[in-house]
Formats: sequence, structure tokens, C-alpha cells
Amino acid sequence: MSSTVIIGGGISGTAAAWELARHGVNVTLLERGELAGMASGWTLAGVRQSGRHPAELPLAQAAVKRWEHLSEELGADVEYRQGGNLRLALEPDDEATIRQVVADGNAAGIPMTYLAGAAEVHEIAPALNPNLVGASYCATDGHANPQRTVEAFAAAARRSGADIRTGVEVLGIVTDGRRVTGVTTSTGTLPCERVIVAAGVYAPRLLDPLGIHIPFTVVVVPAIQTEAVAPMLGQVLGIPTGGFAGRQQADGRFRLTGSSIPWSATDHTAENVMPTLSQLTATLAWSTRLIPALEKVRATAIWGGLIDKTPDALPVIEATPEVDGLVVATGFSGHGFCLGPITGEILADLAMEGSTRHPIAPFARARLDGASVPEDVTLHG
Ligand SMILES: Cc1cc2nc3c(=O)[nH]c(=O)nc-3n(C[C@H](O)[C@H](O)[C@H](O)COP(=O)(O)OP(=O)(O)OC[C@H]3O[C@@H](n4cnc5c(N)ncnc54)[C@H](O)[C@@H]3O)c2cc1C
Repeated sequence: MSSTVIIGGGISGTAAAWELARHGVNVTLLERGELAGMASGWTLAGVRQSGRHPAELPLAQAAVKRWEHLSEELGADVEYRQGGNLRLALEPDDEATIRQVVADGNAAGIPMTYLAGAAEVHEIAPALNPNLVGASYCATDGHANPQRTVEAFAAAARRSGADIRTGVEVLGIVTDGRRVTGVTTSTGTLPCERVIVAAGVYAPRLLDPLGIHIPFTVVVVPAIQTEAVAPMLGQVLGIPTGGFAGRQQADGRFRLTGSSIPWSATDHTAENVMPTLSQLTATLAWSTRLIPALEKVRATAIWGGLIDKTPDALPVIEATPEVDGLVVATGFSGHGFCLGPITGEILADLAMEGSTRHPIAPFARARLDGASVPEDVTLHG
């Protein structure tokens, strides 16, 4: 019998599989599609402490410490680049907002500076529009290759004995009274003692039948990838409204994301997850306005990425009080890639010990009882 079943092969699930397997736990991960087939593949993959909600900050800071050595730890290059994060002040009115981001960051112990004027921004990022008013700069933020990261977690977990299966959908979580006893899947029933739900936007389907309701809505974010070009941008870019973020990948391609719109289908298909033309137009306009050299660069891929958005834009991470042996991580609201290595650690702690040294009290599901979800979502890369 597998002692722990993880549902979901994104960064949260594969990171948890690695933590459990390296602690000698008998673990099986079930993924309905491919590894990194949803948010963890669609993501911009910014690794950011700056601009974080104070509740998430300790996790983000702990995550950055892990990211700095993750390639070494997993024995595979996850293309982590600690190139920094720039939040751009585009108009004079933005300056106060961006200066506040810096002040908040410094107060929380994050080394950040305000770059006053285009000249200071250009010293760090010469490819940016020469008419910027300023920017916040956090040198210890960065980005990584999401596909490689998830594959590296999964490979490391497998080497330590984890059973990782793709193309297997979990149809339900089986309980005996208050305790988890297994999962039913598209290939049969699997008995187990503990279940970790790391199923992203589909978590409610698995949890609702157990009376565990997480009030999140799903939005779709446009993403555009370009051909590879010579290195010109080391930082992840964001803007005050959160309606654009972008970065140049280690392979030279740009990955650019824009504003979200609500998404209401019950299951995603290759078509219904695509962004609208107006989402793409706006994202392209921001891209070429901020990085003029992109005017002549070819777009080679577009996709839409679904985001699980909670009322307070914070995740739900807990060992559920309702069902023993059930651990949940979902509702990352567009910020869960950076946290992935620590989410994995927390999920493994909760599955093995029922508690964790990380401060997760703000992420208990009960805080959301009766809450409703705001319409916009803020991505800062
Ligand atoms: C466009 C975009 C940009 C983003 N930018 C950033 C960013 O810059 N920085 C950042 O930190 N975060 C960012 N995010 C958010 C981040 O990518 C996610 O929060 C994170 O990847 C969530 O990982 P996860 O493993 O929890 O979920 P997912 O990656 O969604 O994985 C869940 C997996 O569970 C599987 N699954 C679901 N139901 C079942 C079932 N019943 N049986 C078996 N398998 C199942 C799914 O197929 C999926 O693979 C962004 C997201 C998007 C979409």
C-alpha cells in the first residue's frame, strides 16, 4: 500500500513528492495529464519576494534560499537566474505607489531600492523604454524554467523511490468516517493513509464532495513567447497595475503575460483556455512600449494560463481539520511558482508530522468562510 498519494504533477505536487521520497516515505503521485501541464507550465515563473503580501513573505524568503541551490539539490539545471525584479513607474503618478513598494519591502527586511529616473533604470536595464519615471529594484528576485523545475523535482523524487504516474486522473478521495483510506482513479482504486491535494484549479472537485469548500474563482491570463534573441534583459518586469509582466528566459526567448479575464468552463480544452484578441493586443502593446526592441521580434507561441484566485489572493495550505490524513495546497492566486520548493516542504511536513516549522496559520481554509472573490488578479512576475 502506498502510504501517501499526491494528486497533481505541478510544482507543488512534485516538490512534495521529492520531500517525502527523500525522507523514505512510500509516495505515489498521480497526474491526470502531463507533468507541468497546467499552471506550472503556463506560468511566467518569476521568483519574487518583493511586493509580496506580508503573510507570504516568510515563505517567499525561505523559497529564494532554496532556489539559490535548487539545481545542485535536484541534480539538474532549472535555469534559475537571480537577475532581480523591476516594478516600473510609467507616469509621474506611479512614483508614490512604487516608492511605497520599496518602503514596504525595506520594512519587511527585503533589500530594495528606488531607481529615480530613466537614467538609473537604464544603468540596470538598458533595453527598457527611455521615458520611464523610475522603478523599484529587488536584486535578489529572479526567475527559472518552470518545465525543467517540475521535471527536476519529479526526477529527483523518482530516484529516491517515488512512483510518479501521468495520465491517471483521481476521481475521488475515499474516506472511512473522518479518515482518508484511498483514492479512486481512472485506472482503479488505490488504498493509502494520506492524500495531498495539489490539484490547482481542480482542487474543489476533489474537496467539495468531502464538505470542504474553497471559494475561489478561475481567471485566464494571456501569455506570449517570442523567438530567442540576444540577451538584453536580466530582470523580471512588472507594472503598478499588475496588468503586464515579462522576462527574458535563459534560452533568449521572452515570456510576456497580461491582464486576466474570468474563466468559467468546467474543464479546460486546448481552445477554451486561449486568451482573447484584446488580451493579446494589450499584452503586446505593453511589451513593445516597455521593451522597444521587441517590435521586430517574432512571436512563436501564445497560450492562456488558468489561475486559482482566492478572495484574499492567498493560498489555502493546511492539514484539513475535517478529514484526517488529508493535506491541501491550492488557491495560489498567481504566486505559487516561487513558493513551490517551500510548498513541497510544508506539504511533506504536514503529511508526515501534521505540523510544520513554516508559518502557515494565515493560509487556513476557515478564514475564507463566507468570503467572496474580487474580480481582478495581480501578477507581478
Ligand atoms: C500566466 C501565469 C503566470 C504566472 N506567473 C507567476 C509568477 O511569475 N510567479 C509565481 O510565483 N507564480 C506565477 N503563477 C502562478 C503559478 O504558476 C502557480 O501558482 C503554480 O504553478 C501552481 O502550482 P501547482 O502545482 O499548485 O498547480 P498546477 O501547476 O496547476 O498543478 C496542478 C496539477 O494537478 C493536476 N490535476 C488536477 N486535478 C487532478 C486529478 N483529479 N487527478 C490527477 N491530477 C489532477 C493538473 O493536471 C495539474 O497538472 C502564474 C500562473 C500563470 C497561469
